[in-house]
Amino acid sequence: MGIDLHVHSTASDGTDPPAVVVERAAAAGLGTIALTDHDTTAGWAEAAEAARRAGVTLLPGAELSCTTGGIGVHVLAYLYDPLQPELLAQARRTRSDRLLRARRMVQAISSDFPLTWDAVLDKVEDGATVGRPHIADAMVAKGLVASRDEAFATVLHGRSPYYLPHYAQNAQSAVRLIRAAGGVPVMAHPRASRQRRVVGVDVIADLAAAGLAGLEVDHPDHSPADREMLRGLAAELGLLATGSSDYHGSGKSTPIGAFTTAPDVLEAIIAEGHGTAVVRP
Ligand code: AMP
Ligand code: FE
Ligand code: FE
Ligand code: ZN
Repeated sequence: MGIDLHVHSTASDGTDPPAVVVERAAAAGLGTIALTDHDTTAGWAEAAEAARRAGVTLLPGAELSCTTGGIGVHVLAYLYDPLQPELLAQARRTRSDRLLRARRMVQAISSDFPLTWDAVLDKVEDGATVGRPHIADAMVAKGLVASRDEAFATVLHGRSPYYLPHYAQNAQSAVRLIRAAGGVPVMAHPRASRQRRVVGVDVIADLAAAGLAGLEVDHPDHSPADREMLRGLAAELGLLATGSSDYHGSGKSTPIGAFTTAPDVLEAIIAEGHGTAVVRP
């Protein structure tokens, strides 16, 4: 049974509700998934209930927005205490700045395109973490672009004049906080360079020293050469090597389970995580 440790739901910028993500995982023959919405744990309860029903093992998690040396980094946090006060405060601050940033981006875009903030809000589930994919979906609905991919390649690209950054906590500090919350920190897509600058090996070594547990080696945005390099680096630094789809529903072409994690790596993550319980069917 496959293991996919990075999937998104409508609690952030995926297009399937948490229960549907779990059902799709079961239908795809996966035995274990981690729900890792951006900067929120809002999908955990619904996913847990669906996982018990569908016979899927669930690792509650999140993908935390971080920054280091001016470069954005995503850190996957598994099995951490969702009530750890500092992590909770950082996630709240990040979500509220993501909302403000999206409003500002939409304001700028709307001077050139017939796009309104209300059209974007239509695409956001109540309480969800807002991201550029929601702006993309509103533009698709208005017929301004054909797909999320087209929006990200043009108006929403990291180098577009409409692009704005949002607040994110320091990556080294996030790794320490995740450990303090009993969680297991894994660096998401370390070499995904299509939309953003990537950090050097020195920064990854720093994060390892701060308590990083693993690197997401097998990811749809990594080339075969990236994956080979990261597998070697993980071995060198004593880090776990994970694989996952970064499934976002119909917003991205990657199917759930496109990349997977080895069973012994899953066991190591479960052995190190004690901030929240694994949901077993
Ligand atoms: P943001 O977090 O607001 O900066 O938006 C970036 C997020 O959009 C990342 O988490 C991506 O995974 C997500 N995303 C969803 N669909 C796409 C797409 N078609 N192309 C690029 N990124 C996408
Ligand atoms: Fe995303
Ligand atoms: Fe990410
Ligand atoms: Zn992701």
